[in-house]
Amino acid sequence: MSDAASTASRPAHGTDIDFSAFRDPALARELIERIHELAGDRRINLMEVCGTHTVSIGRYGFRSIMPSSLRLLSGPGCPVCVTANRDIDHAIALARLKDVTITTFGDMMRVPGSSTTLSQMKAEGRDIRIVYSPLDALDIAETNPKREVIFMGVGFETTTPAIAACILEAAERGLQNFSVYCAHKTTPPAIRAIANDPETAIDGFILPGHVSTITGVPPYRFLVDEFRTPGVVTGFEPVDVLEGIAELVRMVVTDAPAIENAYRRSVATDGNAVARALVDQVFDPCDATWRGLGEIPASGLAMREEFARFDAGRRFDVTIEPSVEPRGCRCGDVLRGRISPNGCPLFGRACTPEHAVGPCMVSSEGSCAAYYRFREQ
Ligand code: SF4
Repeated sequence: MSDAASTASRPAHGTDIDFSAFRDPALARELIERIHELAGDRRINLMEVCGTHTVSIGRYGFRSIMPSSLRLLSGPGCPVCVTANRDIDHAIALARLKDVTITTFGDMMRVPGSSTTLSQMKAEGRDIRIVYSPLDALDIAETNPKREVIFMGVGFETTTPAIAACILEAAERGLQNFSVYCAHKTTPPAIRAIANDPETAIDGFILPGHVSTITGVPPYRFLVDEFRTPGVVTGFEPVDVLEGIAELVRMVVTDAPAIENAYRRSVATDGNAVARALVDQVFDPCDATWRGLGEIPASGLAMREEFARFDAGRRFDVTIEPSVEPRGCRCGDVLRGRISPNGCPLFGRACTPEHAVGPCMVSSEGSCAAYYRFREQ
């Protein structure tokens, strides 16, 4: 931990938190100076894996005040953005079935599939509803016994325990007309894929705060063991983010890679074992296709055999149209950190939040949407 950050009040995990220390301008200035001092003119590529960090970095304008040799690259940490085109097309095909209701989080509605969006399907009269929790979908199924209610399951480790609990609840209630389309993903395998990418050459990872509340710190140790690359789990306040960057730069320039937890007020080293057990009860790991990263071994979750009746992918036979990526969209390169969003020729021209071409401009945590909102260069 940096000297500057160690002066901030750091309440123990689970106690009331005084956020003023994490927004302290003097402390933030001290950390910025420290980053400049440590980095000098050394070329350093850091990646913020999580979309919420991308939004924080944009909101506080950190990209523009970093040393010119230090790049902060956005990664694959928005679950909507990394959902493969084929999964969107599959959901759209399910929505075309007779007597089917699709339920989904709001961000998925406008994500373009190969030829249409769920939002357009709804406008054409299909029964597609936004829900705020998978339990809402369960209630819709219970009150509409003549309809098949499918929940579009998209999300990382923070979301999947609630989905698992929902499936157990559906079993408990004996629901026959509820199922989930599983497009869930787990984060460490995607980070491994990026660490392996010579084209991106990431020197250090700002590791996701929310996901780590579930996973804990050990799943990231491979970064040091296999790639000699440091990582810092950190929070989303200005001092959190700057502290994470300062720590990463220190570890890079001193060649002392480690995985650190700078978000101890929320993340226990071993994460949340109860939530993980819930997920393990319902799901098994499976290979999954990520937009931009392709197929990554053991990076998805498939429902275990005893819950197969709740798996919409197995339960409904649909014809899925051939997958066509949005024309000219560079979301794949953005999600790998190969280009910044404004490196896409469509950014801010043909593609804006109002008329999004790709998912990274649709989602509130998408890199392109964040760059656009905060006018990042
Ligand atoms: Fe895709 Fe639009 Fe981002 Fe370009 S600006 S990568 S088209 S979402």
